[in-house]
Amino acid sequence: MLRDALADEPAYRLRQVDEGLWRQLRRPAELTVLPRGLRDRLEAGFPPALTCVATAVADGGRTTKWVFELGDGATVETVAMAYGNRVTACISSQAGCAMGCTFCATGQAGFRRHLAAAELVEQVVAAARHAAPRRLGNVVFMGMGEPLANYDATVATIRALTSKMGMSARHLTVSTVGVAPAIERLAVDTPTVTLAVSLHAANDALRDTLVPLNRTYPLERVEAACHAWNTATRRRISFEWALIDGVNDRTSDAAELAAIARRCAAHVNLIALNPTPGYATPGTPRDRVLAFRDTLAGLGVNVTVRATRGREIDAACGQLAAVEGGRTVRVRAPRRAATPV
Ligand code: SAH
Ligand code: SF4
Repeated sequence: MLRDALADEPAYRLRQVDEGLWRQLRRPAELTVLPRGLRDRLEAGFPPALTCVATAVADGGRTTKWVFELGDGATVETVAMAYGNRVTACISSQAGCAMGCTFCATGQAGFRRHLAAAELVEQVVAAARHAAPRRLGNVVFMGMGEPLANYDATVATIRALTSKMGMSARHLTVSTVGVAPAIERLAVDTPTVTLAVSLHAANDALRDTLVPLNRTYPLERVEAACHAWNTATRRRISFEWALIDGVNDRTSDAAELAAIARRCAAHVNLIALNPTPGYATPGTPRDRVLAFRDTLAGLGVNVTVRATRGREIDAACGQLAAVEGGRTVRVRAPRRAATPV
């Protein structure tokens, strides 16, 4: 920990280091307010956790994807999306994912390991540096992995981003496939973050086939966790629903979804399924996405259609699988991007 490394220094050094690393997004070697020896010691003691091995750009420069290599050679992907002068970072919480959702490239590739909090935070720092002078407005835990299966690192990251980087917790969105007990813990530990639950089906028979975790935490259990979230936080949940042609885009699906969304006072975010190598059924065509939205709205649901970003560089939702088997990305000389925590 940085605090330990600075134990013998005057108290103002910690403030200087925090300001330099977290607000100015510098590396220890760049902290010229510090004496040379201390700078070198910090740089050596806190080497970067991420090495950028590839970058790809899409959407006329508004979407950037990085492939980061971790110390043990595992790779993860991070995406930055610009909306006007605000940038949203989409970060990975695990290398791979053990949840096995059939329609998701990360799930298709399997699990490698959890990320440490420092590896999560450094993704945000990389995106914030890239964003400057624009603001990093939002961070979404919607990259590779299931953040609530890596609970401690996720909460440590949320705490670091709010207390050190000064981000508002409301601008941090944790997306989960429905790890019900962890949703209930999160409601206590970080009640001001935004919660998104990836639902995709509102009956157990269908959800079992799309989201294997549903066999452990079926809809009734997930719904109970959503009620607990609402009671504890008084904040509106989002339900994520990737529309799959002929699978979960029927009128009956809209009716089932509307019922659970109303009971949970949830906002519904629709997106057409993005293509992945291991799942043959395509996303719902645009006209029927809009019709599904209108059906939900007619049933009294608060609903929006999410725009897809980064599809041509496999950076869109569910397409992150990191290099092997992925589409070729433009490879640049490795570049270090990191901040110690
Ligand atoms: N594991 C977490 C967060 C990462 S996935 C979760 O599942 O919520 C981020 C989002 O992308 C989730 O809503 C997920 O359901 C969605 N997703 C996965 N594969 C997709 C695909 N092929 N097309 C569109 N969205 C997809
Ligand atoms: Fe994991 Fe989320 Fe993909 Fe499911 S959708 S496999 S939980 S990353």
